[in-house]
Amino acid sequence: MERATVAVIKYDRTPNALRKAVGLCDGFEKLKTTDKILIKPNAGQGLRRTQPPNGVVTTTAILGDLIGLLRDYGCTNITIGEGPILLPEFRWDSTRAFEWSGIRELAQSLGVNLVDFNEGEFVRFVMGRKRVEVSKVALEADFLIDVPVMKTHRQSMVSLGLKNLKGCLHNTSKKNFHRFGLDKYIALLNTKIKPDLTIIDSIYALQRGPWGDDAHRLDLIIAGKDVLSCDLVGSIILGIDPKTVPQFQEFAQMTGRPLDLESIDIKGERIEDVATKLEWRLVLAGETLSQDYEVKGIAMDDPGELVCTACGTTVWTGICQYLEENRGAEFDSIEFCVGLAPKAKEESRQVFLLGNCAITANKERKDTIRLKGCPPSIQDTYDILKEHSVRK
Ligand code: SF4
Repeated sequence: MERATVAVIKYDRTPNALRKAVGLCDGFEKLKTTDKILIKPNAGQGLRRTQPPNGVVTTTAILGDLIGLLRDYGCTNITIGEGPILLPEFRWDSTRAFEWSGIRELAQSLGVNLVDFNEGEFVRFVMGRKRVEVSKVALEADFLIDVPVMKTHRQSMVSLGLKNLKGCLHNTSKKNFHRFGLDKYIALLNTKIKPDLTIIDSIYALQRGPWGDDAHRLDLIIAGKDVLSCDLVGSIILGIDPKTVPQFQEFAQMTGRPLDLESIDIKGERIEDVATKLEWRLVLAGETLSQDYEVKGIAMDDPGELVCTACGTTVWTGICQYLEENRGAEFDSIEFCVGLAPKAKEESRQVFLLGNCAITANKERKDTIRLKGCPPSIQDTYDILKEHSVRK
């Protein structure tokens, strides 16, 4: 493989920064003015109106500069496409995601198409012996520009170019990726969809994403034609050794690529001058709950990447609501299992299997309290805990 170039440029709040980044990595080398261009930002969810979208979604500043650059080049067929997470209980849907991120307003004001992958057709693939559905719009683009926002991620360590393409999946496939093995399937997906240009919007970097308000201003743009090379550079700037990131390890194994920077020409800033050190871990486990709600006698193993956003949000919220009401309580050795990973402990007296994955993972254990759902709702989680939890 030829040596990849990655540009690392300081964002100076003008379109010149992106122009320079794309120029340095020769990002438009294969772009034809007649191409059907798809820009894939990260606009995966819409949060509270009062929370700024910094670090959670791709900025409209970078997207606007990119559209301007493409138009200057002579391109006219430009679409922004994303498949936001659908989680009705939290009112997470495409409308809210596009509005909160400012992307709908941007698309309207600049006169470009905005496509919601969730409403379109999907193409079925067999990946690693599992069925996966990928947006047809994403597959049919002549020139795909992957524009993730820079994050550390509590499940996949980092969320950059490779991970951003998960937004091209059908909502069911998004959930299934966590059951199949998130890192391996991110890598497999990237063997099917290959961006022509990756621009990591690093104006902000989010710590312990995928959402939250712990954004750090870096004022950087990372750009290159090779997505893995961009991600390796992005990971180092986040302070995470790429060789320890499972999605990179999987992709490297599938493609025979190295995970060091020796085969990459880095242009612009020196990495050591701009690198930061962000944490990615956020343990969703019994100790956290015990501390936060000052309760005793509860256990929960961190499900890691084997729980998807849906259960990780609804079930966790239901548990928190219940414990909030029972602050300071002492329970008679109860355990919550969520996602595919945790096996209930022998010594737990009451085991709550919350969601279909937890039920599947513990099907041999008989004396459990089971809540079906994919995901179960917040209310059902709260209700089952309220009904069955035994206090000392
Ligand atoms: S049961 Fe929960 S963790 Fe499993 S796929 Fe459904 S929503 Fe995701």
